[in-house]
Amino acid sequence: MSENPFLSLFQNLEKISNSIQTHLSTFIARPANPSRTDNNALFSVSSSPKPSAPSANFQAFGPEEVLKKVQTAAPVTKEELGRATWTFLHTLAAQYPDKPTRQQKKDVKELMAILSRMYPCQDCADHFKEILRANPVQAASHTEFSQWLCHVHNVVNRSLGKSVFPCERVDARWGKLECELRACDLQGTSTKFWD
Ligand code: FAD
Repeated sequence: MSENPFLSLFQNLEKISNSIQTHLSTFIARPANPSRTDNNALFSVSSSPKPSAPSANFQAFGPEEVLKKVQTAAPVTKEELGRATWTFLHTLAAQYPDKPTRQQKKDVKELMAILSRMYPCQDCADHFKEILRANPVQAASHTEFSQWLCHVHNVVNRSLGKSVFPCERVDARWGKLECELRACDLQGTSTKFWD
């Protein structure tokens, strides 16, 4: 007796349905570490050292968590952006070597110039351009650069009616990063004869 033609059709449909469910469940899988609270991250990258498959490296929140995050996401304020940028700049100055290479001196000058063009607050960028014109970047050494940065930060502080920071305390406020095996050194820190 011949096989029921509907049986094979149903079997194929079941296979397709299972396959779709497997893929969907991979996509909306719960994060491996639900305690993670990165405000801006809808998706997190697993810190697992050995992902078993490409999809295991990409974990997403469930739909209700995505919705909650979209509803609570707030735009970054000018103050937050400022604090984050100063943190970056003063940390860079803390790491800046006593004897920078020619390339490093060139790079910090360029970085400041780029900041004065691309800082995503037009008034701040224009103001910073004027500050740079009146106070050209000084980056011959760690001390020179960190003191110069402290000074220009104070120029901004004064213009905003904020208190002036005592620059003799800049190294105490912005210490070097703690990294093993000098992993936080700026690129090209070790002086080579071709630098
Ligand atoms: P911030 O000024 O952000 O400082 C962060 C921390 O750095 C402070 O808590 C303090 O511990 C330390 N600090 C303060 N002063 C110094 C210093 N001189 N040296 C070393 N450490 C110090 N905002 C505007 O409204 N108008 C602008 O024109 C403007 N221009 C800006 C230009 C640049 C390049 C940048 C990076 C930011 C600018 N901002 C501007 C943002 C502004 O400077 C502040 O970041 C923001 O108002 C938040 O201030 P805050 O009081 O939290 O401390």
